[in-house]
Amino acid sequence: MTKIVAIDGPAGSGKSSVAKALAKALGFLHVDTGAIYRSVAYEALQQDVSLDDEQALAKIALGLQEINPSPEIRSEQVSQAASKVSQYPAVRTNLLELQRRFGRASKTGAVLEGRDIGTVVFPDAEYKFFVTASAEERAKRRFLELESKSIKTTYEDVLKEQDERDKRDETRSVSPLIPAQDAVLVDTTGMSLDEVVRKIKQMVIGS
Ligand code: C5P
Repeated sequence: MTKIVAIDGPAGSGKSSVAKALAKALGFLHVDTGAIYRSVAYEALQQDVSLDDEQALAKIALGLQEINPSPEIRSEQVSQAASKVSQYPAVRTNLLELQRRFGRASKTGAVLEGRDIGTVVFPDAEYKFFVTASAEERAKRRFLELESKSIKTTYEDVLKEQDERDKRDETRSVSPLIPAQDAVLVDTTGMSLDEVVRKIKQMVIGS
């Protein structure tokens, strides 16, 4: 049976870097479910589909076969659109099977990162972590990441957009961003990536 490691957390919590490094260290598959929502949002923007049209967005979600590899899915425009698209129950339902299929695709194990992996996608996951950090630290990390990709923005804008996205993710009626009851909370404020990965790996291997 595939071992499932669920890593949930808000934007900029570092969960992507942690999930990637952890998967590599464990020899597990890494599945970025945010990229799935981003792929739907990107497709909607490309097709000029209204972000208010739940049924049309659900149709795009149902037809999605793979994650769009384009770096454009990381833009701020797509980030905001992904957070809007992900509010719709029909979109979320239509992406469930795809996420589960990706997760089970590895014979050994998979590290899935997202917002509702431990609560909805894989509620029976062997390991569940909720990774977070202060809003300021998360915005600083995201700002530096965007800057390194030569994407023009300011720290203040990143913090503002992050707040908007957090609020939407936390207050939506379906699959809101909340830690699973049995998730281990990991506050990464002031911790290096190496320290976080070591800590989580220890909990997975040592258990
Ligand atoms: O993780 P990332 O920031 O790439 O996710 C983009 C957006 O997709 C999030 O703001 C969130 O609204 C949505 N998302 C979600 N459920 C997931 C993963 C991402 O609602 N499992």
